[in-house]
Amino acid sequence: MKILVLNSGSSSLKFILFKMSGEQVLISGTIDRIGISQSMVSFQECNKQPEFILGNIPDHGAALDTLFQVLTVGPISALPDIPAIAHRVAHGGKFRESVVITPEVLDQIRSMNRFFPLHHPAMILEIQECMEKMPHAVHVAVFDNSFHRDIPDEAAIYGLPYRYFSEKGYKRTGYHGNSHAFSADESAKFLNTPLEKLKIVTCHLGNGASTCAIKYGKSIDTSLGISAIEGLIMGTRSGDVDPGLIPIIMDEEGLSPDQLTDMLSRSSGLLGISGLSRDMREVEAAAADGHKRATLALNAFCYKVKRSIGSMLMALGGCDVLVFTGGIGINSAIVREKSLEGANALGFRLDPVKNRNLIPLTMTNPVQEISSENSPIRILVIRANEELMIARECYRITQDVLGAWA
Ligand code: ADP
Repeated sequence: MKILVLNSGSSSLKFILFKMSGEQVLISGTIDRIGISQSMVSFQECNKQPEFILGNIPDHGAALDTLFQVLTVGPISALPDIPAIAHRVAHGGKFRESVVITPEVLDQIRSMNRFFPLHHPAMILEIQECMEKMPHAVHVAVFDNSFHRDIPDEAAIYGLPYRYFSEKGYKRTGYHGNSHAFSADESAKFLNTPLEKLKIVTCHLGNGASTCAIKYGKSIDTSLGISAIEGLIMGTRSGDVDPGLIPIIMDEEGLSPDQLTDMLSRSSGLLGISGLSRDMREVEAAAADGHKRATLALNAFCYKVKRSIGSMLMALGGCDVLVFTGGIGINSAIVREKSLEGANALGFRLDPVKNRNLIPLTMTNPVQEISSENSPIRILVIRANEELMIARECYRITQDVLGAWA
């Protein structure tokens, strides 16, 4: 059985086609700059060279048409060869488990648009277009917050009047769940220890970033809240800000709620502090050249990660494993080093040589250890494979419907 995983951003569409027996990747790629000039399709079929196509792709519908051409020239002969499509979605409202998409599910996803202005509109557009173009397939929504569904109320509730929790459901629901779950599974495999015996702190550090406390396979706390802004400093998102400051800034600058959300989501974080870039590579390079604001952005990013690891450690009552994942987590030795500065006494003993000399991680070899031999807590770097987790979820819930394909 083949499953196509789609992950859409506001101007991009990432795709991977899996053959589920053996979890083999048949083709993977990205369509970038959708709706902007000079769109680019980059993809690679199994055992072949990467390919690139430049063109004009005005919207997500055109992006899907391009993707279907690439698929039918490549690993499949016709679209009905794909019986199931998994769509990555940030938040499913009342739906906390992966689910076959119906009009009710779409309504629930739409109801969360205000919380995910950067993510949801593009995801919904892509789902609607794809359901029209692939009516024979089962379409499944896999939510980024499902993994956090067991977080206890005391960790999830905000200190607001109770009705916001009980009537409106405003509580911490988290994000990056597929990445945290993948890291937990891979840690257990790497350590040859059942997941049910491990306490794990995971740090997903990419453009978006969050930490997670995983107790015996379940998320019990995470740094992200109900929107994608709370917690750590991110590429363009602020992370925690004193809520008392928000109305003052709105008043002083005459900002509407949408303008305020835009400022917190698009022009804060590494970009806002450094004034240079949201890209950690550029921030690191500028900091190394002595750029003061870039140095502050780098240090603040790492400090918040360190503080958040401390919170997760207490939530778990100690841990066995710490994981770094995400584009920054796997690529930035300096971020890993700074995030663990002064944490030796707590049991995090980083081996500086291993940390600086990682062999590039691959899909087939996604884990490396960077802790010293006597470290009470094992420290791992894991290449995230959220798409595989999404495909597994889709496979799991379509078994009843599509048993004959399996
Ligand atoms: P997304 O959250 O969009 O999936 P990624 O997980 O791909 O993002 O992470 C993107 C981040 O990873 C960017 O900040 C980028 O600068 C950072 N990154 C990628 N390579 C490196 C590197 N060699 N050193 C430091 N940061 C890196």
